[in-house]
Amino acid sequence: MNVILLGAPGAGKGTISKHLVDNYSMVQISTGDILRNEVKNKTDLGVKAKSFMDSGELVPDDVILGIIENRIKEDDCSQGFIMDGFPRTIAQAEGFDQLLKRNDLVIDAIIELDAPDELLIKRLTSRRTCSNTKCQAIYNILYQPPKKEGVCDKCSSELIQRSDETEETIKHRLKTYYEKTQPLIDYYNSGSNYHKVKADLPLAEINASVDSILK
Ligand code: AMP
Repeated sequence: MNVILLGAPGAGKGTISKHLVDNYSMVQISTGDILRNEVKNKTDLGVKAKSFMDSGELVPDDVILGIIENRIKEDDCSQGFIMDGFPRTIAQAEGFDQLLKRNDLVIDAIIELDAPDELLIKRLTSRRTCSNTKCQAIYNILYQPPKKEGVCDKCSSELIQRSDETEETIKHRLKTYYEKTQPLIDYYNSGSNYHKVKADLPLAEINASVDSILK
């Protein structure tokens, strides 16, 4: 099964992806995680992407489509993938449609996670991420704190606040989302594979809604 998760930053795309990875043996393709890894390793791509990411802007479409084109051809994607954070613009969605056609692939479900802005801002400013790029576990100091403050439960690495998760950058990311990404809802929502899920509910209820779509 191949799935696209749509939704603003903080809507829970990463959290729902983990549920899908654990329960449906699909692979998660997070363009944000791929880019953060490149930034951390100071690759040419990472150096190019960093200034866009730090200011809450989108990385150029051709760069993102190149990343997806390479990633989708890797063997593990044949078991099914979850697009987390891609596509984010109409140009990316159009490029992705062509890429899917060229590779004989279809998208089984497009799931929009819908949550109000106040909740998105609260979730993002209280989020902490494991600094170990192989782990990248996500915590929330309000809703899901680690056992020991500032330390990852899974690998004991330091927990950090992402440089793009300050309140000012988050507001800019939301503005970017409404301008560039929300138009994708109209692009996709006439299809029978489009589903909208309320994402301001307890996690178990959101997971159950997603399960009922995929069953
Ligand atoms: P995320 O973790 O998905 O919120 O992504 C963090 C940042 O990476 C975004 O604010 C963008 O700067 C960049 N990014 C991630 N995915 C994309 C994408 N599909 N298109 C453009 N920029 C992206």
